[in-house]
Amino acid sequence: MKRILVTGGAGFIGSHLCERLLAEGNEVTCLDNFFTGSKSKIIHLLGQPYFELVRHDVTMPYYIEVDEVYNLACPASPVHYQYNAIKTIKTSVMGAINMLGLAKRVKAKILQASTSEVYGDPELHPQPESYWGNVNPIGVRSCYDEGKRCAESLFVNYHNQNGVRIKIVRIFNTYGPRMEPDDGRVVSNFIVQALRGQDITVFGNGLQTRSFQYVDDVVEGMIRMMNTDDSFTGPVNIGNPNEFTIMELAQKIIDLTGSKSKIVFEPLPVDDPIQRQPDISLAMEKLAGWQPEVQLDEGLKKTIAYFDNLLKS
Ligand code: NAD
Ligand code: UDP
Ligand code: UDP
Repeated sequence: MKRILVTGGAGFIGSHLCERLLAEGNEVTCLDNFFTGSKSKIIHLLGQPYFELVRHDVTMPYYIEVDEVYNLACPASPVHYQYNAIKTIKTSVMGAINMLGLAKRVKAKILQASTSEVYGDPELHPQPESYWGNVNPIGVRSCYDEGKRCAESLFVNYHNQNGVRIKIVRIFNTYGPRMEPDDGRVVSNFIVQALRGQDITVFGNGLQTRSFQYVDDVVEGMIRMMNTDDSFTGPVNIGNPNEFTIMELAQKIIDLTGSKSKIVFEPLPVDDPIQRQPDISLAMEKLAGWQPEVQLDEGLKKTIAYFDNLLKS
């Protein structure tokens, strides 16, 4: 049994991670300030004796004795991370410093949930880990992108200078049950609009692409990454390389829900990347043959079932 701290554990991905780590027989402490996460996502875990919930903000120091830290605390949807941009930067940067300080003190292994956003609007396609990215440092997305880039730098420097055992994963667009219905991300927006019979809002011409990964696949990838040899620090891309245009996604969701919703076009947000697709050869080589198991149709069906239930209750 390992003692594991999951920051941002009451969020979308974090709640699935906590559930999985508990099921594998670990002792899990979930730390969250409930900015975008909520108790409702982990309420089913609260009765378990080896699960503990702590309300805390990662920008403040935190002391606990653990073997592993998964650092996920940070709002991930553009609507949420732009709501208080300064706080987003503080969460990524000061949160990383505090959790790295903790990992250094207790000699824990620490994994950073980084993001494909470190590649910005990429000029190289698909994106390998060796690509340095094309990020606008003063744009509206920079609080998130640059915060995450700085966190990667902190991780690497705590490793080089202080010997902290680090792991960096760059997560690509992830979807699944427990996304927030109103967090503005494309999969949840389209499903909720389709189920309510509202117009499906495609931004721009809908020809921009994303590669969507089901939440169980990212959780599996993160756990396998944590369990790799100390000499492998990453960064490693975790995503599903199957790439779709936003129009294709809209059509799929209309078909799968049998909705009568119509597609309407709205302006493309500023700095919206045109295409994004992970090169996952490194993950497949280093993470014991990891690869995405759930493809879009199957994952969307599960997510639609979740939202259908949520909207009825
Ligand atoms: P989420 O918003 O559902 O979860 C983030 C969690 O962090 C929430 O529970 C929130 O309350 C908590 N949090 C935010 N600020 C905090 C703070 N200062 N102190 C303590 N807790 C704080 O988002 P998610 O989709 O579950 O993302 C989890 C992590 O994965 C994030 O770090 C995100 O950047 C990364 N990621 C997600 C995606 C994706 O597609 N969902 C893609 C790339 C990277
Ligand atoms: N820290 C923490 N928990 C710990 C150990 C450290 O939150 O268990 C914080 C500590 O408050 C500090 C940060 O982590 O601000 C970085 O720690 P480090 O030891 O690297 O730096 P220093 O304490 O020398 O500033
Ligand atoms: N998008 C859209 N309609 C929506 C929400 C998003 O067309 O209602 C587009 C958005 O402009 C972007 C893509 O879908 O091109 C993915 O957006 P999301 O916010 O989910 O993720 P990110 O831009 O961070 O990859």
